[in-house]
Amino acid sequence: MIIAVASGKGGVGKSMLASGLALLFSRERKITAIDCDVDAPDLGLWLGTKEWDSSEKISVSEKAFIDQEKCTLCGKCKDVCRFGALKYAKKPEIIPYLCEGCGLCVHVCPGKAIRIEPVQNGEVMIRETKYGFPLVSGQLYPGETGSGKVVDDIRERAKKFGGELTILDSAAGIGCPVIASLKGTDHAVLITEPTPSGFSDLKRVLEVVNHFGVDYSIVINKWDINKEMSRKIEKFAGWRLIGKISFDKGIFKAVSELKPIMETDLKVVEEIKGIHKKLKNVIERKAS
Ligand code: SF4
Ligand code: SF4
Repeated sequence: MIIAVASGKGGVGKSMLASGLALLFSRERKITAIDCDVDAPDLGLWLGTKEWDSSEKISVSEKAFIDQEKCTLCGKCKDVCRFGALKYAKKPEIIPYLCEGCGLCVHVCPGKAIRIEPVQNGEVMIRETKYGFPLVSGQLYPGETGSGKVVDDIRERAKKFGGELTILDSAAGIGCPVIASLKGTDHAVLITEPTPSGFSDLKRVLEVVNHFGVDYSIVINKWDINKEMSRKIEKFAGWRLIGKISFDKGIFKAVSELKPIMETDLKVVEEIKGIHKKLKNVIERKAS
């Protein structure tokens, strides 16, 4: 069973909640944690670690390369690139971070001077946490494309750990890595905050969740910073609301000291325990 913690926007407490749930569920069953927020992976930090047992570079996209020896300077490739990745001054040059590897320039080149090759533009990191469960994390290098493929890769690698339950920290938003994170999950916990943009982003991510027919519940983080907006979200969520988390500056202090919040005496500990209890009911319901 896979439980994904997702949000329509970043910075609303997704990794905090995912880390707390991973820790609580790991006391009861064999779990695997996956950090699919490949543009800004930080589940490791919330679990108190910056170190990895292993890391491996991966390739999730391709780019064009020019063999200047073969180039006849015919200029046919000059204006074909729609991504602005092909610069032509005295000779053609590829701007790597703009190249999408579409292959059009290869197609027009009469001298076969351009080739497409895979590039190493991401990384997969694995660590056995001190809580006895594996954390599989991925990172797409800055300026690179292929975030959804990094997510696919780490989800595939996580399978070998054979956990009964996977806690998946999804990428934020509604783009490619979110779709890759949510497909095939059994339940999504959507976390939001009581602001107009938080509410609007919740509705956007719900469209993705509903598209894939994923069962879901809703959590409001920092509910007490705007009680009126919080009430609106509660009304919208109805029976799907499974918890509210209070604003607490102590949470930021704990993560900056690499102290997992479930090891603190902050109010959030009991609040996440309440969410965990409700999710256990969800799991039981689904298993029966
Ligand atoms: S492969 Fe496509 S994106 Fe890259 S330089 Fe050639 S035309 Fe541009
Ligand atoms: S189309 Fe090929 S041969 Fe012509 S300028 Fe471009 S790279 Fe050189």
